[in-house]
Amino acid sequence: MEKAKIVVVGAGPAGLAVGVEAKAKNISPVIIFEKAEAFCDTIQRLYRPGKRVDAVYRKMVIEPEGICRFETETKEDFLERMAKYIQEYELDIRYRSEVNAIEKGNGTYKVRVGSEFVAETPIVVIAIGIFGKPRKPDYPIPKEIKDRVFFEAPCECPQGGKVLVVGGGDTAAETACFLCEGCDEVYLSYRRPKFFRINPVNHENLEKKAQEGRVNLMLNTDIDHLEPDPEGVKVVFKDGKTMLFDRVYYCLGGSTPAGFLRSIGVEFQDGKPVIDEFYETNLPGVFLAGDIALEKGSIMAAFNTAHRVVERIVEKYGDLVR
Ligand SMILES: Cc1cc2nc3c(=O)[nH]c(=O)nc-3n(C[C@H](O)[C@H](O)[C@H](O)COP(=O)(O)OP(=O)(O)OC[C@H]3O[C@@H](n4cnc5c(N)ncnc54)[C@H](O)[C@@H]3O)c2cc1C
Repeated sequence: MEKAKIVVVGAGPAGLAVGVEAKAKNISPVIIFEKAEAFCDTIQRLYRPGKRVDAVYRKMVIEPEGICRFETETKEDFLERMAKYIQEYELDIRYRSEVNAIEKGNGTYKVRVGSEFVAETPIVVIAIGIFGKPRKPDYPIPKEIKDRVFFEAPCECPQGGKVLVVGGGDTAAETACFLCEGCDEVYLSYRRPKFFRINPVNHENLEKKAQEGRVNLMLNTDIDHLEPDPEGVKVVFKDGKTMLFDRVYYCLGGSTPAGFLRSIGVEFQDGKPVIDEFYETNLPGVFLAGDIALEKGSIMAAFNTAHRVVERIVEKYGDLVR
């Protein structure tokens, strides 16, 4: 595991600005993990070519407080500006690296990408924006069963019923084990003949539950589509077999930002993450920056959260990052 002074999750405007501000304060090493192949993925993907990037967005006039700033310009010019920041401040960005877990250790946090813990750090800044979404299957979900089909792991275990978990990664394994606590029957459908990307702990837990008969493993099963049924959800497999379930949980990767924060232990109140005036969560040393920390987001506001977060890190955790 690499050791870092700060780990930043997400290389959007907020995450990059955290990198810039930290570098300016001589904090090193700072590692930025980005799940996409390029920085500012939200902007690259969701802004049309030539779009005007407004410095005053949604009527919010925000004065820049830190190093990163911009005037209204095109998408391409804005991305060019961010590329220059990356170059000038020599930001260390690891692309194609989706952080899927952050675990508290002995005074530090361990950051997981894929099935491996890749970095250890006292400070984590989460700047993942609000546009993440869980992966969904290719076939449509009939509207009659939409309230029985989920694309994220449940926060609380539902009581009773026969449930199906779909997927072969860590989230699928963890969800299946978790659902055993309250559901009558738990099935796990995975289209490959064996699990190959779940971590050893989850694998062991899953095997144990399978041996106890609490999780029914259905390897080599591929779902063709779902149908509504008066009794619940009818799952039609590619080999023509059908099964009935009360609820179906797809765990196919990707997560909503709220799901991610909850999974690492960030507390929520009224549907919002609890943060203090410096954007620090209930987990000491874990900060939010950018859209995910704000009521109403914009690029300039994201830059400013980054500035304030780094100022606070230096003030409160100076001995850990210097
Ligand atoms: C169509 C559209 C037009 C807009 N126009 C304007 C405008 O004109 N002016 C303006 O100020 N604002 C505009 N906004 C809003 C602006 O884009 C956001 O406020 C800004 O992008 C927020 O920055 P951020 O860094 O918080 O999040 P994001 O830009 O969403 O960046 C988050 C980054 O984190 C990465 N990530 C997510 N999860 C993980 C993970 N688990 N591990 C690693 N990486 C992860 C993502 O791939 C992404 O690169 C617009 C938004 C949209 C959708």
